[in-house]
Amino acid sequence: MAVNIENYNKIKEQLSQKNVTLVAVSKIKTIAEIQILYDLGQRDFGENYVQELLEKYEALPKDIRWHFIGHLQSNKVKYIAAFVHLIHGVDSLSLIKEINKQGKKLNRQIPCLLQVHIAKEETKFGFSHEETRNLISEFSETTQSVYPCIELQGLMGMASFTEDNSLIIDEFTGLKKLFDEIRLKWQSPLFNILSMGMSADYMFGINAGSTMVRIGSLLFGSRIKQ
Ligand SMILES: *Cc1c(COP(=O)(O)O)cnc(C)c1O
Repeated sequence: MAVNIENYNKIKEQLSQKNVTLVAVSKIKTIAEIQILYDLGQRDFGENYVQELLEKYEALPKDIRWHFIGHLQSNKVKYIAAFVHLIHGVDSLSLIKEINKQGKKLNRQIPCLLQVHIAKEETKFGFSHEETRNLISEFSETTQSVYPCIELQGLMGMASFTEDNSLIIDEFTGLKKLFDEIRLKWQSPLFNILSMGMSADYMFGINAGSTMVRIGSLLFGSRIKQ
């Protein structure tokens, strides 16, 4: 299995025209494979597992921006709180509270995205649109956020795993609408990331207004063990 440099260059080209950030999803992949993309200039990498992220963080250059994109267990926040660049999958109130607590200890505002449940599958994590609206008001209090050690930078969503392209487009478009609605109301300059799109559906994500895509298998090959 090898890094697909041709795909990398093609995707970088597509994204640069639209000002979309590429997070190279390197879960399960080796340090050597990550180093290849790093040497080509890639700095944003996404990981799903805390232990694996810690090992890679230790071994690789310190100017890498590490994104935590998976489901994060509250009891593991403390291991990544000091260095993580952005937590995409913030999907419960208890996780919000724990991230805020760890941020306080470190005197750091930890950058986060709220994960919104947009897919039909029940297995995907995240808040409903309504829950998201209600939560946002706690971050956007005019006097002080309820969670001052979280820097809320936007929203993340995962579309249904389906062949039905129109369903994917609907789900991404709905999330973009919610994102715009919140931005209009809140007017925080920091709230400007919409993370949607993976290998199979990133073009739909971009066309619907994504500002950040998380792409793994197109860059690193399939993760399925042979
Ligand atoms: C694994 C993963 C990705 C990347 O998936 P690919 O289909 O390999 O591009 C993106 N986002 C999340 C949350 C993931 O867990």
